[in-house]
Amino acid sequence: MPWIQNGNQSEVRAEESTGEDQLSLIPRWSVVLAIIVFGAVQYLFHGVMPHHKHELLPMRLLMGYSWGTAFASYVLLVGYVSRDVKRRRMPAALWMLIVVLMPGGIGAVVYFLLRQPLLRSCPNCRTEVMSTFHFCPQCQFQMAPVCGRCFRGVQITDVYCTTCGHDLAEDQAPARLRAYSD
Ligand SMILES: [Zn+2]
Ligand SMILES: [Zn+2]
Repeated sequence: MPWIQNGNQSEVRAEESTGEDQLSLIPRWSVVLAIIVFGAVQYLFHGVMPHHKHELLPMRLLMGYSWGTAFASYVLLVGYVSRDVKRRRMPAALWMLIVVLMPGGIGAVVYFLLRQPLLRSCPNCRTEVMSTFHFCPQCQFQMAPVCGRCFRGVQITDVYCTTCGHDLAEDQAPARLRAYSD
């Protein structure tokens, strides 16, 4: 039984992306660049553009703030894609060009529609497998807790299968029970 070789299944589960992981993907250079871009837009609106007597200051502040935020967010997005594209083993240079050059953020939309699923390596044999797989295709290592009757994915905290109602405690599947017993 291959899963027995792995002492801690919850460790494997923890590698799956959470919101924090997504944010930590944004590289530092793009955070710095985003701040610079935001500052530059403020300068453009308040320093460079001509002031008119009749215009309202709140309008100018609001416009500067929204354009600054829009451009800065785009820089952060490009930074995120530059890392995300690598961990999905997609051609990085090509996708960066598409995301940066296609106008109005269309490149980013295309990227998020077409990006490949995340890969992760099997803890047992190191084969690269899709993160949605329940079992490793090479060594049968159990990558995620599954129901012992219908083999659909279950949560580690589930007591009964949400698909077929099977009592998960009956399974000889340490993958879902080990989280409690450890
Ligand atoms: Zn494997
Ligand atoms: Zn089931």
